[in-house]
Amino acid sequence: MGVNPLKKICHWGPLTALGIIKIITLMTIHCSRQCWPPQESLFGTINFMLFFCLSGYTLFHFISSIYEGPGFLPLKWMPEKLTDTQFLQYCSVCEGYKAPRSHHCRKCERCVMKMDHHCPWINNCVGHFNHGHFTAFLASAVAGCCISTFTLVSWVMTVLSLKPLSFPPPSVFILIVVIISIGLSIGVVLAVGTLLYFQLLAIVKNRTEIEAWISEKAHYRRFGTKDKFIYPYSKGWRFNIQQVLTWDCTPVGNGIYWPVIEGCDQYTLTQEQLAQKKDKRKRAKTYRVIKEASGSWVPITHGWGVLCHLPCTDEPRIKLKVGDIVVVTRWRKYWLFGEKKEDDHNEKHVRKKGWFPRTCAIEVIRNR
Ligand SMILES: [Zn+2]
Ligand SMILES: [Zn+2]
Repeated sequence: MGVNPLKKICHWGPLTALGIIKIITLMTIHCSRQCWPPQESLFGTINFMLFFCLSGYTLFHFISSIYEGPGFLPLKWMPEKLTDTQFLQYCSVCEGYKAPRSHHCRKCERCVMKMDHHCPWINNCVGHFNHGHFTAFLASAVAGCCISTFTLVSWVMTVLSLKPLSFPPPSVFILIVVIISIGLSIGVVLAVGTLLYFQLLAIVKNRTEIEAWISEKAHYRRFGTKDKFIYPYSKGWRFNIQQVLTWDCTPVGNGIYWPVIEGCDQYTLTQEQLAQKKDKRKRAKTYRVIKEASGSWVPITHGWGVLCHLPCTDEPRIKLKVGDIVVVTRWRKYWLFGEKKEDDHNEKHVRKKGWFPRTCAIEVIRNR
């Protein structure tokens, strides 16, 4: 899919995830074989086989999520009818239009089909083509870790019960690794379980995290008017689920054209996005930089207020020089978010957007 999957795996996210999967799997197999040897009881066999399958599914869907990828929009993409470009946003990095439901990911550096979010654990985006695999990965990880937690806790309780053991007593090292595995396993059940809940909700509603945010802004923008926003892609829960959760995890559709409900068309959502962008531009204010911003995530030279109110987002922080002009679109008490105005266009067309301390700039008031 244009990106080398091996390169995607060699990154702290997937390596940590693989490490966690490995530790929990090895420890669970070890403990279940000691507590309930699979060849000696039916319970042991079922427990072992069930865990073995879930662990395999977890690994398979994890690798598939990375390997399949979300589906990247071709570079310089254009709609079939050229007049349709008026309804679409342009991506200056990919030098093409953004198809409906596509968004540009800064980390993947490409426009992603039906982008949900960029997941650091798979070091890839979750989007159209890997939504099914990703959800199956979350589900098998949660189910597998429920069995792990049960098995590992039972093993520790057996070891600490001081009754005679049916297996050789474990070393302190093994005991510590098992206890760490219990922590990891419970962590997976809670954290990944929460993520799974939101993914299932997104599938049932056929609405990604980003689209939920756009819809919310749409309702807020039209509040008090008769012109209500209708989200175009939700055609009933049964239909929505069938779009993503198929037996081989291959989604329905090509990631560019989407079925919509009556009264909406292919561009209902993109036109709303354009309108929101226009509103944002209207609200935007120009600032001039009066104090240098280093682009640091934890700037220490701008006072306590700035330091104690760091924006909780992974959006970039920008570096600014005295005299730079910034178009600000978001305001916090101690921070501003804006785009630096570049006057030289000889560089590659990369727009510098990000947060910077509010103390660095003053608003430029224009007399009209
Ligand atoms: Zn793009
Ligand atoms: Zn991404």
